[in-house]
Amino acid sequence: MKCNEIREIMPDLAAGLADTTPAMNEHLRGCVECSGKLEAFRQTMSLLDQWQVPDPSPYFDTRVRARVREERAARPAAWWEWLRKPALAASLALLMVMGVTLMQKGGVTHQETNTAQIEPGSAVGDLQALDKNHDLYSEFDVLDDLQVQDDVNANP
Ligand SMILES: [Zn+2]
Repeated sequence: MKCNEIREIMPDLAAGLADTTPAMNEHLRGCVECSGKLEAFRQTMSLLDQWQVPDPSPYFDTRVRARVREERAARPAAWWEWLRKPALAASLALLMVMGVTLMQKGGVTHQETNTAQIEPGSAVGDLQALDKNHDLYSEFDVLDDLQVQDDVNANP
């Protein structure tokens, strides 16, 4: 048996949770260091056995309750705390729903204004017409590309 092996189990040996095997006894007889350590462990354990846990002071509970009351009094809006987080979550959810519905409605009204309320001559009407034309031209470009592709495919 090696020193490392016996030292791992030494706290249990000193506390009486494990018994020494013949191999351990042999090592302890031959190794002054390990036998000294085990003796020191046993003395520490017997000291701990004698040690009495002191009773808490009789005013401990009273003082703790007083401190808790002080902390509560220092934060008058404490009852909001439980409401704040759910309210935040609900308002975020509401914002998301509003965003989605506005996006859907916005798309529809945008198209309606494009078709119904163009006033030729006014600045807004001209800009809208230019915007529409640009959209049309870009679509034509896509069509041209498609036709070139078709030509290439037809006549390789
Ligand atoms: Zn040893």
